Amino acid sequence: MRTFWVLCVLCALCGSSLVFAQSGSKFDSNRAWEHLRQMVAIGPRPAGSPAIEQTRKYIKDQLAAVGVSVVEQAWDTDTPLGRVHMVNLVASIPGATKQRILVTGHYDTKLFREFRFVGASDGASSAAFLIELARVLKARRNALTFDLVFLDGEEAVCKNWDDCSRPGAPDNTYGSRHYVDVAKHDGSLGAIKANILVDMIADRNLRLKRETYSTKWLTDIIWDTAKQQKLDAYFVPQTTQVEDDHLAFLAAGVSSVDIIDLEYEPWHTASDTLDNVSARSLQIVGDVVVAALPAIEAHGTR
Ligand SMILES: [Zn+2]
Repeated sequence: MRTFWVLCVLCALCGSSLVFAQSGSKFDSNRAWEHLRQMVAIGPRPAGSPAIEQTRKYIKDQLAAVGVSVVEQAWDTDTPLGRVHMVNLVASIPGATKQRILVTGHYDTKLFREFRFVGASDGASSAAFLIELARVLKARRNALTFDLVFLDGEEAVCKNWDDCSRPGAPDNTYGSRHYVDVAKHDGSLGAIKANILVDMIADRNLRLKRETYSTKWLTDIIWDTAKQQKLDAYFVPQTTQVEDDHLAFLAAGVSSVDIIDLEYEPWHTASDTLDNVSARSLQIVGDVVVAALPAIEAHGTR
């Protein structure tokens, strides 16, 4: 009798974990949308602000809830507005080998004093994507280790990207440059087989062009996967060139791709709000990136 009940309990547990594993391995844009909404609700989240500290707490709490460990990479950096405390968050999901694939995106929003900028696509979409991807990868059997890096300080402190840049000291991409510097010095750079950068991926009129600084094999895998999934109306064959967080990785020899929709009318305006972004766009990018992972892992282990 007792054995019977033990077996029943075990079966119930097996059954539920099986269901969890199946639903867990698919990117769920409802969850990603909720993360995006929560971060937008925090308000403007520029580097060094109390609001970005609150955002970090949100991200860490959400990752802890799905059992993913996070390490803070904190530093102080000189900017045209003085010294700013910045923090990259690195969420690690172990795989069969220590070779790593990075999925990166920024979580800061651009500082505007003249209007309220909440960055629904520019800042919240990438962070929301990474939080949901962490849940998916935790439930997946990964051939390589995944590090999801929430980058701080992507945005220029000055009005435009290069207004205050000096040779050797750009006023932008602070987080990615710091991450690469640290990886160079601690010897971990060589284990990184690919870096998938997402930026501004929730545009309700999603149209992602192939970014031409990006590494060809990695771009090919992602755009070919989109085509196989009949999502090539969103991952279009046209090209564009964008300076973004992937450049520091590329300069260090790390294969990188930037998935970015910069042709977004509300870009850097007060209208980068919930009504101009959509869960459907997050789903499209999630489906394509997750489906592309086996081919990227295969390339990374060969
Ligand atoms: Zn921006």
